[in-house]
Amino acid sequence: MKIDIIIKIVIAALVLTAILFIVLMVIDVGSDKTEDVMSPSTGEPDDSDSDTTTSDNTIYNNTDQSGIKKTVDPNTEPVDANTDLNTDADTPNSTTIPSEEETNPSSPQSTRTPTSNSNSPQQRARTLADAASNSNGIDNSWALQLVNAKNPLASGFVPNLTSIGSYGGENREFDNRGAAYAKLMMEAAQNDGLILTPVSSYRRVVRQEENFRASFNSFVSQGHSRERAFDLTAEQIAVPRTSEHNAGLAIDFNSISTSFDQTAEFHWLRDNAHHYGFILRYPSGTTSITGIIYEPWHWRFVGLHHAEKIKNSGQVLEQYISNCKDDESAVAAWRAQLVG
Ligand SMILES: [Zn+2]
Repeated sequence: MKIDIIIKIVIAALVLTAILFIVLMVIDVGSDKTEDVMSPSTGEPDDSDSDTTTSDNTIYNNTDQSGIKKTVDPNTEPVDANTDLNTDADTPNSTTIPSEEETNPSSPQSTRTPTSNSNSPQQRARTLADAASNSNGIDNSWALQLVNAKNPLASGFVPNLTSIGSYGGENREFDNRGAAYAKLMMEAAQNDGLILTPVSSYRRVVRQEENFRASFNSFVSQGHSRERAFDLTAEQIAVPRTSEHNAGLAIDFNSISTSFDQTAEFHWLRDNAHHYGFILRYPSGTTSITGIIYEPWHWRFVGLHHAEKIKNSGQVLEQYISNCKDDESAVAAWRAQLVG
């Protein structure tokens, strides 16, 4: 009897061990499968839109994305002129906003989303820019136009305009060659939960004169001399025909206030606007060069190529244009073609 009981206990123990072993095996295999299955789907939330198989997509994705990413380096930030104005440049918020594709890394194979990316506003802006590029790979080279007190627009100049939205029930217009980029930028911000409202964009010269007069009169009524009133106004409002708004190349977003640079919308623009060809035109501490006060709300279209270079250079447009090596690139390209 005792031996029987011992044998039964031993058998039971063996059976239990075997069951435990099998259960552990199943769990292990299961977790491997789950990882394989999960990683593509978590990395590619919009995959359902695509009509090809997962494996095909993954391959296309990676190739696509690696190509795209090389042109866009979100980590190259150091911008001299921007550093003093972006007091919170180091906060995680400002750096995490950018693009979903960067915040979605799940596995090495499926870091990038294909479908959503190729249709993303940023990608569409890139595609537009590629189509608008010259033989030197510079998109929208027409947009590198300096408009300031020393470089007024021609008398009677009126750009071809396209609506980019409305504000206060009024249409907001932009140079029709750059309008699509402005709209894509607003769309991208909206996708990130932020609303960019074009409170002001193209301004007729007559309107610029009205604005200037109103401000001038206001300073005079505050007791300033007429000379001083003119200078004070000219610091804030461009003399008619010397404003980028007259050229249809600038947009004032959301709030005409220095405190706009404390908002998530400004942070988003600072981090993303160059993907759509826009630059912060009057950074903090550059008044002596631009002649215009710090305007965090004023964003200027210069094309994607120049916007990225300007952002990375930390220069304002006046400096960039005077130092612009791209003027020589046509010579260099032609030379390379002949000389080899
Ligand atoms: Zn403006």
